Amino acid sequence: MSKANPISNHHLYRLLEISTMLSSTLDLGQLLEMVIQVAAELTDMEHASLLLLGKASHQLEFVATSNEPALVGMAVPIERSIAGWVLTHAEPLILDKVHQDKRHYQEVAKVTDVITESMIAVPLIYKGVVMGVLEAINKREGRVCSPQDVILLSALASQAAVAITNAHLFQQTDIIAEIMHELKTPLLALQAATELMERPDLPPQKQKIIVQMLKQEGERMKRMVQGYLELARFDSGRIKLKQEVVNLEALVAEVVEMQRPQAAQKEIGIVIATEENLPIFTGDEDKLRQLLLNLISNAIKYNRVGGQIEVRLTAVGDELTLAVEDTGPGIAPANLARLFERFYRVPGSEGYTEGTGLGLSIAQKIVEAHHGRIQVTSELGKGTTFYCIFTLNKE
Ligand code: ADP
Repeated sequence: MSKANPISNHHLYRLLEISTMLSSTLDLGQLLEMVIQVAAELTDMEHASLLLLGKASHQLEFVATSNEPALVGMAVPIERSIAGWVLTHAEPLILDKVHQDKRHYQEVAKVTDVITESMIAVPLIYKGVVMGVLEAINKREGRVCSPQDVILLSALASQAAVAITNAHLFQQTDIIAEIMHELKTPLLALQAATELMERPDLPPQKQKIIVQMLKQEGERMKRMVQGYLELARFDSGRIKLKQEVVNLEALVAEVVEMQRPQAAQKEIGIVIATEENLPIFTGDEDKLRQLLLNLISNAIKYNRVGGQIEVRLTAVGDELTLAVEDTGPGIAPANLARLFERFYRVPGSEGYTEGTGLGLSIAQKIVEAHHGRIQVTSELGKGTTFYCIFTLNKE
């Protein structure tokens, strides 16, 4: 091995093989697994992890690790982590004593048993933009990492960046096929209705009903397309949230007042319970209004006549929780897991034609973009509660 070319023929050959392997799959999960396995193998290190920058959340998140599945999904602060350093500086790092490095994010150590000694971390760069960080940890047999390891890992990272971008693009074409499929049902209904309208013997009363249905289905299609485009904007990171102080108490009151007429039609009462001295909340007021509208209108739509709704705001530690509780029919445990999937509607909800199955997916995106998580509990025959739990003081 000469000085000018620090990569051995064996490794060059292996990189070529890997390149073919990575471009052979568009399955994102499978691809991420391959990348971390190969990262550990190429550098002769014990483990590897991959973190990607969430387009909507603007946070670095573990998407794959070879040692600790519990790390997947964990967010790492960009300002206080080694991965964050690599991301912002767009250059590799080679470290011998990671646990002593003050950039090391201690929360990771709490989740995994593995003590990180040595580490190589390289940026994943596609078209000049850093999209994530690939880390390999603990050189085998206590040896030290070499510049050659950095070159190998960087070569892998640039191939991985292309392959991951392709897999993301492929997922998007899947999504287009999905919306076409979803639009087919209302389109067929519109077609059938217009054909009926052409019949000369159609009684005027029926005509009225059909025109009403045409309007409703047209509206629903419009909302499906709008909602769908909004989800796509979230996914691609094109939605930039405002950072303004939001008076959540006032916002809840505003949205509840807005919804009272619809609630009154079903004789539903809405009460608000907010804790005193709520912490200051920063976020995007318009998006939070939309979130509240979504949850409260669902609580009306899927409630019984004469039912109740309670909207609560509470704070414990560094968490602020918004809860919307209703006295509707509840959701069976088997259906709860799919609730936040786009276009999913609990079987039986189809009767409420105004639904699109997108409201909760959008609600989830809004909450996550505000450093929060959305949860639901439900009991058949009693009602459902949605919780939006926001972590305060996040950068
Ligand atoms: P949509 O209401 O437009 O159908 P959502 O995404 O808002 O779409 O909700 C998805 C599905 O979840 C609904 O179709 C309904 O079946 C169920 N759902 C939502 N909120 C409630 C609720 N408060 N109680 C019972 N079911 C609900």
